[in-house]
Amino acid sequence: MGLIQRRVTNDTSAPPSLYGAAGVEPTVPAAKGWDNRVDVAIVGGGITGLWTAYNLATNGASVAVLESHEVGHGASGRAFGQLVPYLKHSHEKIIADLGEERGTRLSAAVAVAPAEVAAFIERYQIACAATRTGILIGARTKAGSAQLEATAAALRGAPAKMFYGSAAADLVGSDFYPAVLLDPRGFHLDPLAYARGLARAAAAHGALIHPVTRVDRIAPRGSEWDIICGTRQLTAEKVIIATNAYSGPLWPDLARSVVPFLVHGAVTEPLPEGVLADILPQGQPLTDTRRLYSGVRKFGGRLHVSIDGASFVPGRADAARMVQRRLRELYPRLPAPHVENSWSGWIALTTDQYPHIHRLAEGVWSAVGCNGRGLAAASLLGRDLAALARGAGDNATVFPVRPLRPLPLHDAAALVVATVVSTKRWLDRIDATTR
Ligand SMILES: Cc1cc2nc3c(=O)[nH]c(=O)nc-3n(C[C@H](O)[C@H](O)[C@H](O)COP(=O)(O)OP(=O)(O)OC[C@H]3O[C@@H](n4cnc5c(N)ncnc54)[C@H](O)[C@@H]3O)c2cc1C
Repeated sequence: MGLIQRRVTNDTSAPPSLYGAAGVEPTVPAAKGWDNRVDVAIVGGGITGLWTAYNLATNGASVAVLESHEVGHGASGRAFGQLVPYLKHSHEKIIADLGEERGTRLSAAVAVAPAEVAAFIERYQIACAATRTGILIGARTKAGSAQLEATAAALRGAPAKMFYGSAAADLVGSDFYPAVLLDPRGFHLDPLAYARGLARAAAAHGALIHPVTRVDRIAPRGSEWDIICGTRQLTAEKVIIATNAYSGPLWPDLARSVVPFLVHGAVTEPLPEGVLADILPQGQPLTDTRRLYSGVRKFGGRLHVSIDGASFVPGRADAARMVQRRLRELYPRLPAPHVENSWSGWIALTTDQYPHIHRLAEGVWSAVGCNGRGLAAASLLGRDLAALARGAGDNATVFPVRPLRPLPLHDAAALVVATVVSTKRWLDRIDATTR
């Protein structure tokens, strides 16, 4: 294992305590029984694994989800909480990369994914503080504004709208951005509670959820697979590996096919209602056109801010300084709030910035690499993985099934990413000081 993968494997941090707190979905209880044989074993209890389990269980398959910690322990339980109707690339780029038919299918599926997740949350009454007021993207520069206008124009019929000047300021509660895009299709929630609710729904349809169950080894047994978890073992016809950035040594080439990268978040102390009322008054989460994470939202009576930090050292971020810098530029009259909690989580980057589905061996599939945009897309990946496990051909999936390509010199690839991130951070700082 390389240095970066060791850092992921040795990361003992947990999701932030604010997520999954009182009043939302409780921790998912372990399944009462342990079946020695299931149709499909799913490694990883994040939203990709859980969506796969839900789709399989509702189609009558016997399923076990094996999660080394609690449900939502990975990126799923630490995310900024925003479900967006986009991938990293524009519709045009997706068509250019995947062709007209596949590209259109993928773009269309991604565009409706947040609405489908919202309907699912409603159907299963998942208590995850889902706030369906749309999402805001601000532009500080003329180039950023032009980029948002191009995005809005390309949405072709979607009800997204540009706001300028005082109308933009009214939405943000600040005149920091001369232009703002409001996309009503996106929304935000408590991601850990969402993961738990998804596990509850899958379990209600018969999926066995096994938290605190690390899969140590997967070994072929004839046409089936033995899944070894410490002293326990089960046999499955099919296996799904949904471990994303947390992949580790289980399937070494899979872990080497993505670059794990840390994203950091922080929340302030609870703030008085009167103070919060003027900030993002309609309740949308805000990001902007800068190159790196820039999220700000109201959550749990606090402000939640995405912050810069070390790309490969868990928890290393100067949270107080980062939060205050971001809030000072947006809300200069707000007295600097105390930062109550900060955390980090690993996302998986791919070289082409698309999520990747792989057939790892006969009867074994994986999906990795949401590049920090997985909260809505995982519902599609889970549907694809379930379809593959049920015997669908590669053409039936929304995301293409690709050959697995481990990155040569994995640690060096991480260094390249770190350099690119530093450059983007520097360019973002220049943009933030110009209009
Ligand atoms: C700070 C942060 C902010 C983010 N913000 C957003 C956002 O606002 N919007 C958005 O769309 N996306 C966001 N993302 C990305 C999003 O959270 C991920 O794309 C998504 O949650 C990935 O889900 P997953 O199930 O594929 O992986 P994960 O949630 O990482 O799940 C993988 C699971 O596999 C388990 N595992 C690993 N190895 C084993 C093993 N051997 N045996 C058993 N279990 C194992 C891990 O414990 C983990 O629970 C953010 C991510 C982070 C970290």
